[in-house]
Amino acid sequence: MSSINTSGPSVACSSCGYDLRGTVIGGTCPECGLAVNSSVHGFRVEGKYLVVRGDTILPARCINTNEVVDTKQIDKTLYWSHPALLLLILVNLLVFLIVVLVVRKKCKVTYFLSQSQKDRRRVKIASALLISLTALVGSVVLAMNEQLAFFLLGLVVFFVGLICAAIFSSTIRIAKMKDRDFWISGLCPEFLQSLTDEDVPVGTYRP
Ligand SMILES: [Zn+2]
Repeated sequence: MSSINTSGPSVACSSCGYDLRGTVIGGTCPECGLAVNSSVHGFRVEGKYLVVRGDTILPARCINTNEVVDTKQIDKTLYWSHPALLLLILVNLLVFLIVVLVVRKKCKVTYFLSQSQKDRRRVKIASALLISLTALVGSVVLAMNEQLAFFLLGLVVFFVGLICAAIFSSTIRIAKMKDRDFWISGLCPEFLQSLTDEDVPVGTYRP
């Protein structure tokens, strides 16, 4: 493990402002206990969440398996708006959409998936969409044959398929916001552990 150069420029702890020069990069702030990585790289790990303050570039390891990868990076812009805004749907759907578009917060996370995980994700999305589409076509046929009960069942399968496809496509998402921090879920425990264990390599970004 390397530590922050004592003769280099000062690195302030992003929580308490303590000068972190001389501390181990994988360690914690001696004053407040915040992970040093959080101040140096802009992210830290809290339980099953990756906590970031803004745009973040993660090391070149698969976030699902933690294996080192040589695949192209994925630049994902994540959005978050307060769940209570959903109540606006009761007022007006258009008002809801406009308010969400205006107030939503976003951050860009650059991460990596192994080729096999990328392929798995594609197969799951494609399967969900195929089931969804089949159910829609089936529903139309059943409606034309006045099979109302089966028509409704087909519609339900259609929507469930769409929702599943949406869930499968979002590998990571913002679970919550606290202060100015984005709490991101969807990264495997081994990957998160490795972020806290070691001196995280910077500059793994592949443009
Ligand atoms: Zn501190």
